[in-house]
Amino acid sequence: MQHPHEKFMKRAIELSRFAGIEKKTGGVFGAVIVKDGEIIAEGYNRVMGDFDATCHAEVDAIRKAGKKTGNPLLEGCVLYTSAFCCPMCLCAAYWAHIKEIYYAATVDDAKKYGDFADVNYYEEMRKEIADRDIKCTEFMRAEAVEVWKEFHKMPDRAKY
Ligand SMILES: [Zn+2]
Repeated sequence: MQHPHEKFMKRAIELSRFAGIEKKTGGVFGAVIVKDGEIIAEGYNRVMGDFDATCHAEVDAIRKAGKKTGNPLLEGCVLYTSAFCCPMCLCAAYWAHIKEIYYAATVDDAKKYGDFADVNYYEEMRKEIADRDIKCTEFMRAEAVEVWKEFHKMPDRAKY
């Protein structure tokens, strides 16, 4: 008998094949979001197809699920991804309040077979900000914080 999660992961893997091998829109990455035992959104990597460095399968699926449900917070949803999330997608899952993630291939597999840098970026995130490859400099904080102060006083401000 098929494990209940198997059909969802099979679909995520199918989408990874579509992205990386059939359509060649990007790397071998596919993802689906499941709520109450049903797929509510699918995503696949379109970094090259859309000229969008952020169009990873998980982000694609999270964006579509939010539009479909009319809610950016995907409470109670499960993410199935054909390969473990990069730091961006993992954080996107946190922002979307995803409950649980199932992954098939690992970041080491993505490095070994596709030379994808996920594993490098995980190492980068562990470094102090000053030691990272992208130079980050605080600038005009006081002016920006004025807007934050205004926002903080608004009773109807965005909360998520
Ligand atoms: Zn990603």
